[in-house]
Amino acid sequence: MVGGIQIQAVDKNFVNASNETVQALSDVSLTIHPGSFVSIIGPSGCGKSTLLRLISGLSHPDKGRIVLDDKQISSPGDDRGFMFQEHNLFPWLTIYDNIAFGLRARKLYKKNKQKVADILHLVGLHGFESYYPHQLSGGMCQRASLARALVGNPKVLLLDEPLGALDAFTRMNIQDEILRIWKEEHMTMVMVTHDVDEAVYLSDTIVVMTARPGRIVKLVHVDLPRPRDRSAENFFHYSSEVLRLLHYGGTVPEPEYYL
Ligand code: ADP
Repeated sequence: MVGGIQIQAVDKNFVNASNETVQALSDVSLTIHPGSFVSIIGPSGCGKSTLLRLISGLSHPDKGRIVLDDKQISSPGDDRGFMFQEHNLFPWLTIYDNIAFGLRARKLYKKNKQKVADILHLVGLHGFESYYPHQLSGGMCQRASLARALVGNPKVLLLDEPLGALDAFTRMNIQDEILRIWKEEHMTMVMVTHDVDEAVYLSDTIVVMTARPGRIVKLVHVDLPRPRDRSAENFFHYSSEVLRLLHYGGTVPEPEYYL
């Protein structure tokens, strides 16, 4: 199986508007197994999106390296799809043309015409090909954005809070869609989220990070069969563990000097 990622001792720094160096990630190492579903959770500004952008190849580590299936990542590639919180669809193009846009730009459309039709079915947008983004709900636009990320046949799908702007019910429906696609397409998915229940519902592994500079506090392996029951006691066991690690568990951890 393909789509395995090795993040090896990665540091990433930025220079802010006051010309100070900000360390966004410090010594982050992580193995993401091929075909697994991994969520990254942590406080705002801890470097979650930075880590996704490094995997996408849009940005590069200052130290360490990231390897996808034995090849060091140095630039974006078709083997990785990216889905963001904002759907970023072109408003002047139909849903079909939005999905086909990347293929056309790379002159791959003719060969992959059937793929566009298959993907429209896969994400439940069959029948909406000729609509424009403003004619669709937020959830449907996110489905189109998912289709656009999948049409290049990626081994890895990177999701940066893709459902953050949706209402709770739409969000739960699309979580199920994402899980179905993950299973059918046998791909690796890496998702940034702020939603603990979403992370437990979807993931094999939850990567819990600290505030800046972002480091990994713990990997929580969710050993629950799918489909998962959000109201079950064992589900709650995992969500409480993640909340405790994020210090929202109802008990304030004692400062180290008390120990
Ligand atoms: P998160 O996704 O966890 O909210 P980010 O990865 O977006 O965090 O950002 C991590 C830190 O790096 C933040 O302090 C942010 O301000 C800083 N940062 C991210 N991108 C840039 C950039 N292009 N220039 C300067 N600082 C950045």
